[in-house]
Amino acid sequence: MADIIQLLPDHVANQIAAGEVVQRPASVVKELLENAIDAGATTIKLIVKDAGKTLIQVIDNGKGMSTTDARLSFERHATSKIRTADDLFQLHTKGFRGEALASIAAIAHVELKTKQEQDEVGTSITIEGSEVISQEVVVTPSGTSISVKNLFFNIPARRNFLKSNTVELRHVIDEFHRVALAHPSIHFLLYNNGSDTFNLPVSNYRQRIVNVFGNKTNEKLVPVEEETDVLKISGFIGKPEFAKKTRGEQYFFVNDRFIKSAYLNHAILSAFEGLIKTGMHPSYFLNLKVDPQSIDINIHPTKTEIKFDDEHTLYAILRSSVKHSLGQFNIAPVLDFERDSNLDTPYNYSKSTIEPPKIEVDRNFNPFQEQKQSNRQLTSSFKKQSTGHWDGLYVGLESREMATDNNFTNVEFETEKSESSLFENDDQKEHISTTYQLHNKYIISTIKSGMLVIDQYRAHQRILYEDFLQNITVKQGVSQQLLFALQLHFSVQEIEIIKPLRDDLEHMGFMFSSIENESIEITGLPLGVPESEVSIILEQLISDVQNEVPDANFSTTDLLAKSMSKSLAIKTGQTLKKDEQEHIVNKLFACKEPNVSPTNRLTFITVGVDELDKKFI
Ligand code: ADP
Ligand code: MG
Repeated sequence: MADIIQLLPDHVANQIAAGEVVQRPASVVKELLENAIDAGATTIKLIVKDAGKTLIQVIDNGKGMSTTDARLSFERHATSKIRTADDLFQLHTKGFRGEALASIAAIAHVELKTKQEQDEVGTSITIEGSEVISQEVVVTPSGTSISVKNLFFNIPARRNFLKSNTVELRHVIDEFHRVALAHPSIHFLLYNNGSDTFNLPVSNYRQRIVNVFGNKTNEKLVPVEEETDVLKISGFIGKPEFAKKTRGEQYFFVNDRFIKSAYLNHAILSAFEGLIKTGMHPSYFLNLKVDPQSIDINIHPTKTEIKFDDEHTLYAILRSSVKHSLGQFNIAPVLDFERDSNLDTPYNYSKSTIEPPKIEVDRNFNPFQEQKQSNRQLTSSFKKQSTGHWDGLYVGLESREMATDNNFTNVEFETEKSESSLFENDDQKEHISTTYQLHNKYIISTIKSGMLVIDQYRAHQRILYEDFLQNITVKQGVSQQLLFALQLHFSVQEIEIIKPLRDDLEHMGFMFSSIENESIEITGLPLGVPESEVSIILEQLISDVQNEVPDANFSTTDLLAKSMSKSLAIKTGQTLKKDEQEHIVNKLFACKEPNVSPTNRLTFITVGVDELDKKFI
C-alpha cells in the first residue's frame, strides 16, 4: 500500500495552533499587548470595534521591527525572545513561543506597520489567512501598529461560537486590566467603538488600581509588603468589609505576568478567615517576584498557569504577610461580624429541617419593618389579579376539617386567632382564608387532592420574572418619575456593563439622564421599585452579568429579568399578610411556567391526602 502520511501545509498547521492560542478577541488583545510590552513601549493604545470581532488594533511606541523581522514575525516558532531551551528558565519577556502572530494571521485579516527609531521609513505587511497579500515601504511613526480585522473570518464555526458583544467586551476589558495592572509604568489607553473607555497614565501601583476600578477603591486598599530570600511580595489587599459576592478583583502577578492559582488564592482566603463570611471573596492585587528559574510558565498555552518549585513555602509566606497586613492596619477589631451576620439572616432555622440555608441575604432587612416592606415589594405585582389554568387544581377551603388542620400547620400564625378558628362559628366562615404561611418561608394552600406547599421566595421570583420579561419585550414598563435625580457611582468597568443594558432597562421602566464615566444618573424607576433598592439592584445586575457563564442561550433580556426578580422578590423570612399570600398563589398559577423558579428550581410541591393517610396508619 502507498504511504499515506503527509506533512500538513503551514496554513493548516497555523490554524490548528491558533485554536490553542486564540479562543476569542480577548486572547488576541492579550498577545498583542504583551508583544508591545516586550518591545519596551511606554505608551500602548488598544482600539476595539464590536468587542474586537470587527477590529482589534494595538499601537505602541516600542522598538519596532526591521523589514526582515517584520516578515519573519508571522512565521510559526519565530521569536526574538529565546534562542535555546535553557533560555526558558531565564525568561524576562511575556512571549517566547513565537506562535501568536502566526496563529492570529492564520485566522484573521492582519495589517502590520512598524518602524525602528533609527530608520526613515517603515514596513507595512498585509496578511489574510496566512497568505501575504502585500508588503510595502511606508511612512509611519516609530513603533508598531497591528490591526486584526474580522477574526475567524475563515472559520465560521469559531466565529459563530463567539458570545454577544457585551460578553466579549467584558473579556477584552478583563485582559486589558490584567496587563495594565501589571505595568503601572506604562501609559495604557483603550478605545471602544470610537469612545475612550480607559486612559491610564503612568502612575504608582495604588493609583493604577484606582484608575482602573474607580475612585472609591482607594479607601479599600491595605498595603502588603514582604521580602524573603525566595519571594518578594508587594501590592494591596481589599479591606474585609469590602469583600464581594463575586470573584471580581483578584489579581496575582508573578514576575509581572497575570496568573491564576487556586492554591495561592486559598492562602489569601485563609488569611481572611474569621474576617469575612463564607462565600465572600476578598479583593487583592498582589505582585510576587520570584527567581525565574524557580517557575515553569510553559505548562499552559495561554500562560496563565505556572508551576512553582516550592508552592508550600510561597503559600505560607503569602498567608502570613496578608495576615500581618490585616493586623497591622487594625482591620480585625474594628469589625463585628458576629452582629452583622445575625442581622443579615433573620430566618429562624431551628425548626426547619427542609433545606440547608441559602446564601441569599436580604440586605435591607429591618426586623421592625417587616410588614411594611413586604407590602411595598408586592405592590408591583399586585396590579392585576388574574386566574389561570390552576383553577381546577385549587378548590379553596370548603370544609371545617381544613380549618382545624390549620391549627397545627400554622402554629405561628394561629397564635393570635386560635380561639376564633377553634370554634366553628358560621359568621367567621367566609373570612377563613385558604392560605397559610409556614415558618415565614412556605405558603400552604389546599387543592382537591391534598395540599400545596409553595416556596414564597422562588414563587415570587417566577412571578416578577415573567412580569419583567413581558415589560422588556413589549417595551411597556410603567415608570414613576423621581423628584430628584438619583446619582450612583460605579467603576468604569461596571459602567461598561450597564451601558449595553440601557435600552432593556428603559423598557422595564428605568429612566436615565446619563450613564458615563463613573456615574449613572437615574430620573425614573419602574413602578413599585423603591429608590432605596436601586443601587442593590444594579450591583446585583452587574455581578450577575460578570458571573454569567456565557453559553449559546445567553440572552441579556433573560439575564436582566432574572437578576431583577432575584433582587426584588420577597425573601424567605418575611411575614406575609393573608392577601399577600393569596396574591402570590394566584399570580404564580397565572404564570406560563409556574412549576419552577427562573433558575429552574421547584416553586411548589404537592402533598396528596393519600400520602398523608399513609402516614397515619
Ligand atoms: P513571541 O512573542 O512569543 O516571540 P509572537 O508571535 O508574539 O511571538 O511575536 C513574534 C516576534 O515578533 C517577537 O518575538 C518580536 O520579535 C516580534 N514582535 C511582535 N510584536 C512586536 C511589537 N509590537 N514590536 C516589536 N516587535 C514585535
Ligand atoms: Mg508574543
